[in-house]
Amino acid sequence: MGRMEELVALLNKYAKEYYELDDPTVSDAEYDALYDELVMLENFSGIVLPDSPTKRVGGKTNTGFKQVTHKERLYSLDKSKTVEGVEEWLCKINKSADALVPVTLEYKYDGLTLNISYEDGVLVRACTRGDGVVGEDVTEQVKTIKNVPWKIPFKGEIDVQGEGLMPLSSLEKYNETAKVPLKNARNGVAGAIRNLDVEETKRRGLSFFAYNVGYHSGIKFSYQHEVHSFLKEQGFNVGEYFELVEDYDLVPKLLAEAETRRPTLDYLIDGMVFKADSFALREMLGSTEKFPRWALAYKFKAEEVSTEVKGVLWQVSRTGKLNPLALLDPVDIGGVTVSRATLSNMSEIKRKGIRIGDRVFVRRSGDVIPEIMGVASRGEDAHEVEKPTICPVCGSPVIEKGYFLYCSNEENCAPRIISQLEHFCAKDGMDIDGLSEKTIEQFYNEFGLRRADELYKLKKGDLLSLEGFKEKKAENIIGSIEKSKTTTLARFLTALGVPGVGKKAAKLLEQTFVTLDRVMNATAEELISIEDFGLITASQIVDFFRSEENRALIEGLLAQGITFLEEEKTEGVFSGKTVVITGVLERYKRSAAQEEVKKRGGNVADSVSKNVNLVIVGSDAGSKLEKAKKLGIEIIDEAGFLRMLEE
Ligand code: NAD
Repeated sequence: MGRMEELVALLNKYAKEYYELDDPTVSDAEYDALYDELVMLENFSGIVLPDSPTKRVGGKTNTGFKQVTHKERLYSLDKSKTVEGVEEWLCKINKSADALVPVTLEYKYDGLTLNISYEDGVLVRACTRGDGVVGEDVTEQVKTIKNVPWKIPFKGEIDVQGEGLMPLSSLEKYNETAKVPLKNARNGVAGAIRNLDVEETKRRGLSFFAYNVGYHSGIKFSYQHEVHSFLKEQGFNVGEYFELVEDYDLVPKLLAEAETRRPTLDYLIDGMVFKADSFALREMLGSTEKFPRWALAYKFKAEEVSTEVKGVLWQVSRTGKLNPLALLDPVDIGGVTVSRATLSNMSEIKRKGIRIGDRVFVRRSGDVIPEIMGVASRGEDAHEVEKPTICPVCGSPVIEKGYFLYCSNEENCAPRIISQLEHFCAKDGMDIDGLSEKTIEQFYNEFGLRRADELYKLKKGDLLSLEGFKEKKAENIIGSIEKSKTTTLARFLTALGVPGVGKKAAKLLEQTFVTLDRVMNATAEELISIEDFGLITASQIVDFFRSEENRALIEGLLAQGITFLEEEKTEGVFSGKTVVITGVLERYKRSAAQEEVKKRGGNVADSVSKNVNLVIVGSDAGSKLEKAKKLGIEIIDEAGFLRMLEE
């Protein structure tokens, strides 16, 4: 079999698994790479095999559903992975234009295409795209999606096209209790809508994002931006991003900005879609068998790939917890080589059915630690991950607490002590420069360093006796240890590693109790009254400060001369006020506006609660404004805010 036949057979097998069975065995990135290779061979040879996927949209429909012929064909999208590719396309669509043609820019949602038909203002049918000509009738399933309107004001006939998505928060919640966790959000939505059990569709908490109209009568559209406004007026969710681009120079910046926002969104996007705004131009440009010439998808770097699990390593954390880490066949995800991924705990390994030797889907989004989503295909000699009975580092017996395993050796298990010390010195803690994990390990081995207060007893001469330490390095480290003695209470609390107390919680403790003594003697009741503090955190804090050992550590540290600076508060028009900013301000970015408030003595909060004194409201404000009204908090608009800044 030649390479082309091989690629066609392989791609058709993958497409069947993906579109028809909703059970892919390779990642989109791998599918796309093979697809691109086929396109290249077809262009080069001028031969296109009859069953080539490059001439087809999607996959076959599931016979369990009623088949529906679309009133107008649905297409796929042509794609580019580079800005140059986008620029080429812009040139093409401008060929016969007198002036630069405006294009629209939207997110490329990564879910399942849906075509929803309305007649006389009522939802009459919802279908999948299928092969573009015939789709599956999934009306009952789609009606379970909360933000799909059953009625719209428009009384003509119209097909609304968009994407069904499973929000990442819904996926997380679903997977927490699911017997068989979902492999990813794309798979979660496809399997939910192409599911005869409507109750299951409902359970997945899907969302719909509308971006196009197909067949329509009783209304005329001349531009995509009109379609966007129309859909919004009719009560559809049109997403939070829509840009009419008239200046092409902005394109690289807009794409880069969108890619940075990608990891912050609660749903998957895998690129951006450009569309010629003018419908007259669209008519002229027409479509190929597979995609319209008037639109182009810019694809982001892949966030998910598949690779093999080579083994599992158990790492001992700061709290003595044994964390399983999957050792992977190294693989590139969006330009970063990934060879390890977290696995949470034994129960998760079991639920996801992961065995050593399996091919698994691995996802890395933004700076987040790579995570194994699920099994792509079972390895031939795959074997179960074994639960350790002794600590892999110190050999002490392992104890089980709930889902987790702990090393029972609290005093002397090296990685545990070393990561506690590392946490103590970290940026958000005592911020001691130059103390890397390696250096702390050296101190642990050479000086028998075990407790944080012993750090402050080290002398320059001690350090000079260590391998790799010269005068300058030793001086710098002693200097930063000394400097860290003057700190803030919040930093000190973070550094201590009180369970459940990170940077933000430490700051709240400082604001509430002001002195260390009062924090140490706070009751669970007092702690719970702090926003975001639950019962578990509160009792962990109380337990921590009750422990003899922890009290001795704190005493030891104070004896070394640690003192707390009071944070200097500037006085100003916002003094004594906790302020929330919501909606879009014209003159200031949100972060800049918050800085202005802080500079004038105010505290800034993210959410509206009874502790908030003032809410500044820009355009498009939502639930925060409602809540502020309900709580009777003072509300001002941007003009009012600007006046306060001038005071
Ligand atoms: P596509 O999903 O890459 O792009 C076309 C689709 O984008 C449209 O049908 C539309 O539903 C959607 N879309 C999202 N946002 C949009 C917006 N704002 N405006 C217009 N359309 C928007 O193309 P496709 O042909 O549906 O699928 C091909 C892709 O599917 C491949 O690139 C691959 O990544 C994936 N795939 C994966 C496997 C696998 O085994 N992993 C197999 C087959 C296909």
